[in-house]
This record gives sequence, C-alpha cells and structure tokens, in this order.
Amino acid sequence: MHPNMKKGNHIHIIGGGIGGLFTAALLAKEGYKVTVLERSAHVGGGLQSFTRNGVTFDAGMHVVGGLQPGGSLNRICRHLGILDQLHCRPVDADCGDEVFCFEDGAHYRIPQGREPFTKYFQQLFPEERDNIQRYVDHLFALADQVDFFFLRPGSVSGSGGDEAFYKPSAQFIADHVRDPKLRSLLAYLSPLCGGDAGYTPAYIFALINYLYISGHYRFEGPAEQLAEALVRRIGELGGEVLPNAEVTGIQMEGGRVRSITTADGRVFETDAVVSSIHPQAALKIVKDQLFTKAARTRLSAAPNNYSAYCVYAVLKEGTFPYLNHPCYCWDDYGKVWQFGKYEEGNWPQNFVYFTPCERNQGPFARALQVIVFSPFSMVERWADTVVGKRGKEYEMWKEKHTELILRKLETVHPGFRSCVEAVYDATPLTIRDYFNEPEGALYGLQKDSRDPYAGYLPIRTKAENLFMTGQNVYLHGCCGVPLTAVMTAEAVMGETDAIVGKL
Ligand SMILES: Cc1cc2nc3c(=O)[nH]c(=O)nc-3n(C[C@H](O)[C@H](O)[C@H](O)COP(=O)(O)OP(=O)(O)OC[C@H]3O[C@@H](n4cnc5c(N)ncnc54)[C@H](O)[C@@H]3O)c2cc1C
Repeated sequence: MHPNMKKGNHIHIIGGGIGGLFTAALLAKEGYKVTVLERSAHVGGGLQSFTRNGVTFDAGMHVVGGLQPGGSLNRICRHLGILDQLHCRPVDADCGDEVFCFEDGAHYRIPQGREPFTKYFQQLFPEERDNIQRYVDHLFALADQVDFFFLRPGSVSGSGGDEAFYKPSAQFIADHVRDPKLRSLLAYLSPLCGGDAGYTPAYIFALINYLYISGHYRFEGPAEQLAEALVRRIGELGGEVLPNAEVTGIQMEGGRVRSITTADGRVFETDAVVSSIHPQAALKIVKDQLFTKAARTRLSAAPNNYSAYCVYAVLKEGTFPYLNHPCYCWDDYGKVWQFGKYEEGNWPQNFVYFTPCERNQGPFARALQVIVFSPFSMVERWADTVVGKRGKEYEMWKEKHTELILRKLETVHPGFRSCVEAVYDATPLTIRDYFNEPEGALYGLQKDSRDPYAGYLPIRTKAENLFMTGQNVYLHGCCGVPLTAVMTAEAVMGETDAIVGKL
C-alpha cells in the first residue's frame, strides 16, 4: 500500500466523463472518499444524451463493446453492482454491422461471432479461404497479447513479441489477404479506431475488431443511463459528483498536489488527484513542474484523432424501420481508410448511420443519426467562435453540409426524406466545446505505429499524488476507458491486482 494513499483518503477526480466516473466508483468501493469535479452542468462526458422534439439522442456513445457475459466491461460493471441497472441489447446476431458501397450498390451484412464472421468472408471470397482463416486467427492472437484488455492478473500493456503488433493496420491486412475488395471490407471498422491506413497500429485495430466481432451492444434508451448508474453508486459509497465545477488550477507543496481550484473560486484540499481530461487541456491547469519540459513539448504538439460532423434526424412515427445495427457507407471500396478526410465539393465520401434504440423499442425508429468522421480543419476558420455566436456564414455552411448528408441517405434509403420531421446537426466545433476536447477529437491523441509512445499518457506523473486516466491512457471507448480506470485506481492504491483480482 502506498504510504500516502491510505483508505479513507480524499481523492479528487477532474472530469465526470467515463474515465472519471469509473475511476471514482472503483476507488469509492475500495474505501476511498471521492469527489468528482465536472465542468459541465451535465455529468457523463461521452455518455451524455440530449432531447430534441421529444426524442433522445446520444452525444457520443452508440455501440458498446465488452458488455457480453464475461466481457471486460460486463465484469467491471458487475463488480461495481451496476450491471443490472443497465438496459442493453445485443446487435443482430446475423448482422452486427452492415456495409453499403455506392460504387456497386452492394450491401454486406456481417454476422457476429468469430466463426460466422470468418465463414461469411470465406463464402464471399472462396479463393482466399485459408488466408481469411489465418487473418482472423492472427487478429484474435494479437488482441490476446494485450493482457490488461482481458483483465488478467499481473497485466501490463505489451506487445507479446509479435512483430505485427505496431504494424500499420492496412499493412497487417494486406499481409494476409490479396483481393483489394476483401482488404477494404476487412477494414470496415477503421473509423472506430480513428483509423488511418498508414499509422493505426495493428493491435488497436485488432482490439476494436475483437470487441465488435465478439458481439457489441446498444443501450436501450439513452447512454447517460450508465453515467446515472455510476453517479448513484458513487453516492451510495459515500462519494460525490459535482457538476458545474470546472477545474482551473492545481496548487503544489513539496512536490505534491495540495489543493485544486475551480473557475468559480472554490478550493478543494486533497490527498490525491486523478485527471480524466484531455492532456492538452490538463497542461493548461497543471504546474510546469509536474511534467518535464520535453514531455510538455511532446504532449502539446501531439496530433489528435479526427473529429466528426453529426446529423440527428427526428423521424415521423411509423415511417422508418428500427435497425438493430450500425450501417457503414462508402463511395467506393478505396475509401475505407479515408474516414476523417475532408475534400470540399467531394464530401461526404463515407459515413456511419444508426437508429438509436429506445426502451421498449418497436419495429419503427423515432430517430436516425449520422456520423461523418471529419477533420477539425473543416471548421478551422470558426475556431475562435463560441456556441450560438458562430455567425451566419457558419450556419449556411452547416445547412449545405447537412443537406449533402441527407441526399446521400436518400440514395441508400429511397423515400428517407419524407420520413424526416426535423433535423439537427453538430460539427467538430460542437464536439470540441461540448466535451472540452481539443480539435473535437473523437478518441483523443492519435495512436501512431510510427511512434508508438507519442499517443500515450503515463498514469503516473512527477507528483506522487497526481494520476492520469481517460481515453488518452491506453484505449478509448466505452470499454477501453473503464479498463484504464481499473489500472489508474490500482495505481492510486499502490497495489497491483488489488481490483483485477476481484473482477
Ligand atoms: C461523436 C462521438 C461518437 C462516439 N461513439 C462512440 C461509440 O459508439 N462507442 C464507444 O465506445 N465510444 C464512442 N466514442 C468515444 C467515447 O465517447 C470516448 O472514448 C470516451 O467518452 C472517452 O472518455 P473520457 O472519460 O476519456 O472522456 P470524456 O467522456 O470526454 O469525459 C471528459 C470529461 O471531462 C470534463 N472536463 C473537461 N475539462 C474539465 C475541467 N477543466 N474541469 C472539470 N471537468 C472537465 C468534460 O466536460 C467531460 O465530461 C464517441 C465519441 C464521440 C465524440
């Protein structure tokens, strides 16, 4: 046990998103007093939901991996006693994901499960039968090397010695299969990794594929139910979650954090602090002495993942079917690694859409949401503006871009527009300001096979009582961030496997 972080110590957590809430709940369960400070009026970060025309949309959580029995997220939620409070359903077993290509009008309905997934592609490409088997086996073997992903005792994040671990994902696929169309289809989950052909490391791609091939889930009702369950549990365990508490300063004494301050002038004396916000935002708060100059320079300049342009359509009742899986659309097969690109006059070239799942979901959808993964540069010219005051030019630009998306959807689903009651949209600026995420990055810092350490943040800092968590430490997403929370909580406790041993 770390001499300074004894049970009963008061730990303050900056950021009430997925990372902050899971870390707080885990520490509270271990007997620490926790206070979560969230800048926004709504707690949850990527778990937040919002309502338009009486219909609820999720701001940043649509599909969830690791919730199946035995899955990592399932085990963490069970340990915290919140699993039975969550309303979730698996996506369709025979079609966990759908891919549509405008180039030839082909629809692919990709089944769930390692074997059905393998067989599906073997039937489509019989001449590559053995290659596909080798590819899937290698993909799962790569994921299996990441012990902490499976919450194995003694876990460290490591390569397990496979030379493919840090290889660019597109190269990894090309090393196994020859057919260009098959290579593209196998890469369809690239946007969920923040994928880029040249630099997304194969092991990140393998982990995301593992999660989604093994079986992903959807929340029935808003995703914020997970945040609400965590907040309730933190309260039951004697902790607190404070909205409207933007942390703006950290005070040090003798190499340790002594207190933190919020924008409205409150001061919180503390025994330890966990930062669960983007490190580039954290750098603006933490004192110079917490990071070496080299680390500050590296972190400030580290590239971020791409952002997104989102369209939220409220649908007329009984007009459009509920789809129990996400749908990926590409202009042509060569575009699968082009998510996150913006070409004026040739956008969107690819996107994902889904119908949010309601409690007691019937056969028809009340909403449809589109995500066009796009770079922050598309809105760079309005970077200095604030919500509601971005100007007429921005509004007209948005109107034009939303129209482009609706037209594409009309091609996929003829008659779609007649189902639409109202349309709302969000740009990378909205995401930046909503989540306080530099450049509206969906998954934080970019993971780069050319520089494996550039996109990572260590859990420990120079101050022995300041720790990091969230999507920039190891993995992003609704499964990756809670996994990191387990490691951070154990680092605060100073005890390896203190939590993993109980999961
Ligand atoms: C549009 C979109 C779609 C996505 N879809 C999915 C999906 O379907 N499945 C999936 O698994 N993942 C998805 N993700 C990714 C997922 O949302 C993130 O990986 C996850 O939310 C990261 O968790 P986090 O705790 O690190 O950060 P966040 O959840 O962003 O939480 C950070 C919190 O810190 C708060 N904060 C920031 N600065 C301060 C401060 N100074 N003081 C106090 N509080 C502060 C923020 O307000 C926020 O609440 C999506 C993301 C986006 C944006």
